[in-house]
Amino acid sequence: MSRRAALKTGAGVAATMALGLPLAAAPGSQRVVVVWSERTAPKDVYPNDINGAIAEGLKGLAGWEVVTANIDQPDQGASAELLKRTDVLIWWGHKRHQEVKDELVERIVRRVKEEGMGFIALHSSHFARPYRRLMGTRCSWGEYVADGTSAKVIVKAPQHPIAKGVKDFELPKIERYGEPFAVPEPETLVLDGVYTKPDGGTAPGRMGLCWTIGKGRVFYFTPGHETYDDFFRAPVCQILRNAVEWAAPSKQA
Ligand code: ZN
Repeated sequence: MSRRAALKTGAGVAATMALGLPLAAAPGSQRVVVVWSERTAPKDVYPNDINGAIAEGLKGLAGWEVVTANIDQPDQGASAELLKRTDVLIWWGHKRHQEVKDELVERIVRRVKEEGMGFIALHSSHFARPYRRLMGTRCSWGEYVADGTSAKVIVKAPQHPIAKGVKDFELPKIERYGEPFAVPEPETLVLDGVYTKPDGGTAPGRMGLCWTIGKGRVFYFTPGHETYDDFFRAPVCQILRNAVEWAAPSKQA
């Protein structure tokens, strides 16, 4: 089935944007990033949910088709057909992790490990079922506190592709995810962080971690609580654009 035909059938696709290239481009000429969320973010912060905000921030990625998907669509927004042509899957979940079906988890894990699809887990997606399966650990943080904490995101690996064009930056409000983070040792800690609590005390927290799992690349980004506007912030958009490029499987000859 051609991409256009696939799009016409819906195939779990809510909205598709051809960024800079016409939809009629020959199949395979564009890479595909799917931005998935569960439609639980407050509308006053994210009127088009979190996947809509992230998709907006991915504009400017040349040669990429950006697809938004959500859990309420057929096949929970990620049919086998869609996943098959997905180069990178971005995942934001929080309240509905347990609704994600076994078969979807299996499909995602297989696509990453065996076929090299990239996977990007955001914030509360540390407990997303596909992410936990890929990590193989509990994936818990030491604490979760929304008390008006601010954070500095620190570029720890400036040469890494995900850090390209990114400088240290502040997030005025963030939900504090305190160490330890129960994941395997990352191959690269691209972004580190320091939280400043309302009482002035500080606490460390890793912000951007990379792994290679089987054939696929996985990135976890700590910020992104649904009541804050993180996904509209320029450095966050830059990090996600970079992460998509980094996580994509190398192009077929
Ligand atoms: Zn949160």
